[in-house]
Amino acid sequence: MALFARFLAKTATRPTTIVTTTTTTDNFITRPLFRSISTTSTTSTILTSSLKPSYSSSLTFQKSPFPANFTSANVNSSVFPVNYYSFHSITLKRCHLSQLCPTTIQTRLFSTSRFLHNNNNPKTNPPSQLSPVKSTLKLFELKTWQFFRLILQSIGVIVTSVAALFFLFFLYDATTYAGDDENSENGSAGKTIPVPYFALHPQRGGPKNLPIFDACLDDLDTPEKQLETTRPRLVVLGTGWGTVALLKQLYANDYDVIVVSPTNYFLFTPLLPSATVGTLETRSLVQPIRGMLRSINAHFLQAEAVDVLFNEQLVEVAATNPETGAKENFYIPYDKVVVGVGSISNKHGVDGLEHCLKLKTVDDVTSIRTKIVRNIEAACLPTTSDEERKRLLSFVICGGGPTGVELAAELFDVVREDLTKRYPKILRSEVSVHIVQSRSHILNTYDQSISNYTEKRFGKDGVDVITNSRVNKILPDRVIFTQINEDGTKTLKELPYGICIWSTGVDKAPLTRAITERLGKPHQRNHRAIETDSHLRIIGAPLGTAYAIGDCSTVRTSIADEIERLLRDGVLNSKRYYQMEIEDAVAMPVTNRPVTSAPVEEHLALPITAQPVSNTSQSSPNLDKLGNPSETTITQDPSANTPHHLQPRRHIHAIEDDKDLSQLSLTFDDFLVLARTIRSKFPQTRVHISRLEELFRQYDHDGSGTLSYAELEEMLAAIDKKITSLPATAQRAFQQGKYLGRKMGRLVRLSDRLRVADVKYGDVDASICKPFMYHHLGSLAYIGNAAVFDMNGHSFFGGILAMYAWRAAYFAQTVSFRTRALICMDWLKRGLFGRDLSGV
Ligand SMILES: Cc1cc2nc3c(=O)[nH]c(=O)nc-3n(C[C@H](O)[C@H](O)[C@H](O)COP(=O)(O)OP(=O)(O)OC[C@H]3O[C@@H](n4cnc5c(N)ncnc54)[C@H](O)[C@@H]3O)c2cc1C
Repeated sequence: MALFARFLAKTATRPTTIVTTTTTTDNFITRPLFRSISTTSTTSTILTSSLKPSYSSSLTFQKSPFPANFTSANVNSSVFPVNYYSFHSITLKRCHLSQLCPTTIQTRLFSTSRFLHNNNNPKTNPPSQLSPVKSTLKLFELKTWQFFRLILQSIGVIVTSVAALFFLFFLYDATTYAGDDENSENGSAGKTIPVPYFALHPQRGGPKNLPIFDACLDDLDTPEKQLETTRPRLVVLGTGWGTVALLKQLYANDYDVIVVSPTNYFLFTPLLPSATVGTLETRSLVQPIRGMLRSINAHFLQAEAVDVLFNEQLVEVAATNPETGAKENFYIPYDKVVVGVGSISNKHGVDGLEHCLKLKTVDDVTSIRTKIVRNIEAACLPTTSDEERKRLLSFVICGGGPTGVELAAELFDVVREDLTKRYPKILRSEVSVHIVQSRSHILNTYDQSISNYTEKRFGKDGVDVITNSRVNKILPDRVIFTQINEDGTKTLKELPYGICIWSTGVDKAPLTRAITERLGKPHQRNHRAIETDSHLRIIGAPLGTAYAIGDCSTVRTSIADEIERLLRDGVLNSKRYYQMEIEDAVAMPVTNRPVTSAPVEEHLALPITAQPVSNTSQSSPNLDKLGNPSETTITQDPSANTPHHLQPRRHIHAIEDDKDLSQLSLTFDDFLVLARTIRSKFPQTRVHISRLEELFRQYDHDGSGTLSYAELEEMLAAIDKKITSLPATAQRAFQQGKYLGRKMGRLVRLSDRLRVADVKYGDVDASICKPFMYHHLGSLAYIGNAAVFDMNGHSFFGGILAMYAWRAAYFAQTVSFRTRALICMDWLKRGLFGRDLSGV
């Protein structure tokens, strides 16, 4: 400030002429205004041609130095005298623009005087009184001053902004605390709160005469909740990927929703491996469920479903009694139930799994993290022998799928980034990470190039990948496994471990087992999950009342088993329709009839032959419609020219009679109808039932132009083998939940119309919604400061950039802004302070 005051004092003693020309810009501050300064005159003159109004108005503030008739209007086009000192006082004290940025004014003034000094035109620009040396010094003085001033201003702006943010935060924070207002929702102490009688005194009933939970404690809390009690009851079991996706699709007043789960949060599983080593915190991966349920006025019960009684429409639930600690069971009646209880780890019949840790739940993460820290600290003790230290620092992961690989990568990250910095160096050389994989490659469900890349990268990092090895037994300190050598011989090996983590596929959860056992065969035949149809309805349960989604379920796609139903629903129905058409046609006046003289019965009895024709022949309209390439076309002889809908069908009577189904032989047209039926009922078969003509010819072994029942059976069995069951992933569970949520909404909104139309039976789901179709969006995995992506046949992999892409993909999938913010903070925390390896 002192420096600036000195500069003002000096310049103020020198009367100046200031000549301004146009300001063509929008911003006075950032663009030059002053073009020349003359220090010869005792008065200053400002020539303005198009000053901005803001500048003009600022000049009018300082009235005294100007002529009495001076107004803001004439500033724009007048030449008027003004004392230089006055000018400074205008620009620096009065003019709000220059107050905003006085530095700019100085710069302009100074550079103008420099310009004058170098300008040789004495008429318009008389020489400056400043010598070149002084001018340079002044320039330096000003530049230094400007620099410090800029820094001070920046600091000021930052400090003010931070203070303002803090202020706003505390202001907001203050509004989040409950007030003392007696009328508020919170001031209800001492007031009578209405609670449904049966919520406190449930009736008993059902096969086990258990309490029936027919009303909830909060049913009467709000008018909205009261309204929900009049809606159909939807019981949702689980708070995982599938069920949360479903709940998010529902609207308030659709259903009276009751969610039952032993965990009152949703867990973002894909980032669990990062939480085992402290890259992320477990709390950042969970989303409290009650917050999510508020918008649909749903109820939550922290309990475990143990059985579903489909005929009685009751869910048996077990809850822990807080007084006795014992489990107490009760029933929840439902109109519709959705089972989404996930899965448990597959034990594969291996002994000693109790010595292993698993990675499925928040508790598992905490156990692994604590054990890692304990082992590392124990390894640092002087009392620990060399051998024991190596064992403590040996991490064995059984299973080379995405979870196992990501866990190994995270463990290796700790070793590489944290252990070396904070622990004795010897630990680094003695830590070992092993993956035991039964297949020939890790990440074997991914593209081969991805497996190779990952193995190469792990090899470089020192992660030991043991392939073709099946674990036989887990001892308290060793894993015993059999490795198949390249020559086919087997070797029994053992691997000492400090921590062994079991991560090898999924198995039925207890409730899933109970449900499949209850429904039994032939409804439930899958040994891993509850079987549903393509509409996600549990097979064997009353139609439209019970659904299953996510890991606990599998969509049945064995079309060979459904052959009879498919024939009846598809071909037979279409033929009935066709017969009606023909009967109509026969009843038509002669003039309108198609060109055919034979009676209907004759048409039906006409033989159909399939004849391959030349490549140049015209394609069948059916094939064209289905978009299949047709090198050869099957033509129907002798009525090839008759309209298509009246083409003869030979086997209609055979199909109509159920007993004769095995005598059936299908023409190509029948086969087209059947293919359409299969694809609509089993969308997952679409890829395999595409080249219809080729398929037809392949299985028409006798070249008769028709498919016999046996040939058809063989074809469908072959297609069955090609269909892989849907993967047990969050992606699938999420898609199923979303699909079912939408359908549930539609069902309830259409229910009034169905009631009016007196529709009580039949496949309502199928009539309002297409079957569920899974769209695989790709798979990705973190492999230690690198990531791999398998996007439907296109593979990408790479280092740190790929890792950020991986993070971005999961970041986008997290369910709330809260978890996103927490995850971001965790990543930042790791970057700034390293991973938290405290053993709390
Ligand atoms: C470590 C790890 C990493 C993974 N990474 C990925 C990945 O990167 N990408 C991917 O697509 N998939 C991944 N998965 C798989 C994914 O988590 C599962 O496929 C997905 O969670 C299945 O969803 P779900 O809704 O079927 O069950 P879950 O999400 O497992 O939820 C089941 C819910 O049911 C509740 N429950 C359990 N028993 C009962 C009961 N008896 N009564 C009531 N409620 C019950 C549970 O508390 C839980 O809330 C990973 C899994 C793990 C363990």
